[in-house]
Amino acid sequence: MDFDGLLQAQTGLGTAAVIVMDKSTDIIRAIARLIEFYKHESCGQCTPCREGVDWMNNMMWRFVSGNARPAEIDMIWELSKQIEGHTICALGDGAAWPVQME
Ligand code: SF4
Repeated sequence: MDFDGLLQAQTGLGTAAVIVMDKSTDIIRAIARLIEFYKHESCGQCTPCREGVDWMNNMMWRFVSGNARPAEIDMIWELSKQIEGHTICALGDGAAWPVQME
């Protein structure tokens, strides 16, 4: 498991930080918490990050509470793709990727 190997597998190692979760982890809640972190950390300079991460945060917590509409599954994917690669720094990409792993 190295950067080149994961690139060939069409995935990535990111910052190489690893978060270990056991099987009892509610993965949807874990992703929501990650997005909440990115929302808090966004400096707000780029519109896709400032607005998009806030939208993703709201949507993810609707998934956690069971109040999301089924159409929001595709919507959050598309929203994450509007953030990924469209920001000045890598925080936007970092915020988009957890959502794409759902
Ligand atoms: S992507 Fe980086 S520079 Fe742009 S708003 Fe987010 S934190 Fe700020």
